Amino acid sequence: MGFIRQIKETAAELFFPRRCPLCGALIQYNERICSRCAKDMVFIRRPICRKCGRPLGTCDCGRERYAYTRNVSPLIYTRAARRGIHRMKFRNVPSSCRYFGKLMACVVRSEYLDADIRIDCVIGVPMHPEEQCKRGYNQANLLAETVALELELPYLNRVLVKYRRNQKQHMLSLVERRKNIKDVFRVARPEAVAGKTVLLCDDVTTSGSTINECTLMLLNAGAKEVYCVTATVAVLSEMPPMQTAENN
Ligand SMILES: [Zn+2]
Ligand SMILES: [Zn+2]
Repeated sequence: MGFIRQIKETAAELFFPRRCPLCGALIQYNERICSRCAKDMVFIRRPICRKCGRPLGTCDCGRERYAYTRNVSPLIYTRAARRGIHRMKFRNVPSSCRYFGKLMACVVRSEYLDADIRIDCVIGVPMHPEEQCKRGYNQANLLAETVALELELPYLNRVLVKYRRNQKQHMLSLVERRKNIKDVFRVARPEAVAGKTVLLCDDVTTSGSTINECTLMLLNAGAKEVYCVTATVAVLSEMPPMQTAENN
């Protein structure tokens, strides 16, 4: 490293210390995440399930029917991933959002775009306006924006909307989740998705009920196909001891 660059980096570190996008701990300039989080991160590698994106043999997609064509995810929902999702959701940390968004863009490129799947637009799983107003932003939209920016795809906002409030999904059983998420979304601008292949983005998928319900609405509105990407995906054997957090 050149002397000038070293001085610049030391000065930058002094005035703008870098933090781990997952837990907020201070990190070095050459680190992306802290060593504690790095030990707990589980990146999903091939072979993966062609439906839900989990490592092969860790899902039961054979028994489920999902309306979306495929879901992919760069990470398993471990403790470190949960810390990062929490930081992005409740602390509005742009670096956490960029971290996940870039990983999502990478997996979309390798699994979809490199396989000649043409994506026409990117959208995020919506929040109810009251909830979004309280939080100030919707993390799924921020992820969708990052993915769209990274892949130079059009990002669409306010196409899919959540018009009915429901219970938080994470406390419910699989059957209750499906019921709870029914009829809470609708497509406000069908003409924006008609005939298009949509990329739907969210932070966590556990049962897949949320992205599936959004997909049904988009298909009903005339979308040609829906591909999904979520920052993390829950796998039973790797679940953190605390509750999961699908759909806020
Ligand atoms: Zn960390
Ligand atoms: Zn699967």
